[in-house]
Amino acid sequence: MPILLPAFVLGGTGFILGILIFVVSKYFHVEEDHRIDDIEGMLPKYNCGACGYAGCRDMAQGLLAKQAKVEQCKPIKTEAKIALMKHLDELFKSELELKKQ
Ligand code: SF4
Repeated sequence: MPILLPAFVLGGTGFILGILIFVVSKYFHVEEDHRIDDIEGMLPKYNCGACGYAGCRDMAQGLLAKQAKVEQCKPIKTEAKIALMKHLDELFKSELELKKQ
């Protein structure tokens, strides 16, 4: 019987904190921009920092914000660079068309 009290206290605390974490995660959920994932997927993913950014994801955010240029990525291969430039071009063109409407 004396062992049941700590079990209930710990179990109850865990249950209450679990509910709290669930509620907080629902209300403070931040939707990620899938365009960053797409751009990051086209970068070499070496996370070397040669571009001046902390890593490829940071560089992808810079490219999307038009603060970085693809040429800043030193190890990217020519074909990948061209494909990424085309992708960004299409992305920015479609954004422009959406703004016009
Ligand atoms: S230089 Fe290229 S590979 Fe290196 S972190 Fe920057 S984007 Fe990634």
